[in-house]
Amino acid sequence: MSCNIGFIGLGIMGKPMSRNLMKAGHRLVVFDLVTVSMDAIVSEGAARGTSAADVAAKSDIVITMLPDGPEVDQAILGPGGVLEGARPGTLVIDMSSISPLVAQKAGAACAAKGVDFLDAPVSGGEPGAIAGSLAIMVGGKPEAFDRAVPVLKAMGATVTLTGPVGAGNVTKLANQIMVACNIAAMGEALVLATKAGLDPEVVFNAVKGGLAGSNVLNAKAPMVIARNFKPGFRIRLHQKDLRNALLAAESMKVGLPITSLVQQMLIALMNDGKGDFDHSGIVTFLENLAQTEVKKPGQ
Ligand code: NAD
Repeated sequence: MSCNIGFIGLGIMGKPMSRNLMKAGHRLVVFDLVTVSMDAIVSEGAARGTSAADVAAKSDIVITMLPDGPEVDQAILGPGGVLEGARPGTLVIDMSSISPLVAQKAGAACAAKGVDFLDAPVSGGEPGAIAGSLAIMVGGKPEAFDRAVPVLKAMGATVTLTGPVGAGNVTKLANQIMVACNIAAMGEALVLATKAGLDPEVVFNAVKGGLAGSNVLNAKAPMVIARNFKPGFRIRLHQKDLRNALLAAESMKVGLPITSLVQQMLIALMNDGKGDFDHSGIVTFLENLAQTEVKKPGQ
């Protein structure tokens, strides 16, 4: 069934996601603070919105894909925001990676206006957004989830209800903790092996089929060995995610000692001008400690 969908936030992720919604036959009205970001999608058939409120007034379902909590807060709850245009029965789906606490605040404000809200962050990066193969982790009421599934399926390969509003972002933070700590552990291991005189590619091939093997290792070790830190997923975005994880953990009195340590590495890397490196660049922090680059001998 085709729907009237509003899409707010046409960045690296939002552009290909909105394209996949149009491919699936939905009618789109779009908005981004940066006018040129709308031009390509409008030229491909979407209507141009004048504000988040305007988009919401013209849509049954509104999707937001924004950098972080403050932007989501502004776009949904702020002046000219989604809630100024939404009607009772509108469904708002925030697909940004934000603090679960901000998602709960937005969910409560929506509920007070009779508007349904889901938090539905994604994993899979730009390639997954282009291919429509994102992993989508959703928090919210089952009825709202059921209504959203056909729309989310146009953008993702897996769509999983993980709990009430906020649970989608708790799941995403859990994902980001595992990825960041995995990259850091991989970095320590490969720096040690390289400084011992081994070829890191040989070490990678020797361990990848065993218990230490992982999607992270398979995706990131070859990038490090090739000295390719083109993003992918930027260090500054991962730092934002770990900050949100640490804030959420503090509010629940949960200690995340390993995450805290990796967060310090990410901050140091940003101060070193590497915020726009791929997150595999975490390894460069550990390389500096050992004055050893993970690369093939003689490279
Ligand atoms: P991006 O910075 O490329 O895009 C964000 C867009 O939002 C920009 O076009 C910006 O102009 C717009 N925007 C900001 N504030 C706005 C407002 N108030 N109203 C309207 N538009 C506004 O970011 P991205 O890489 O597309 O990431 C979006 C979200 O998805 C982030 O939370 C990120 O952590 C998450 N994410 C990104 C990736 C990735 O690989 N890039 C992977 C998974 C999840």
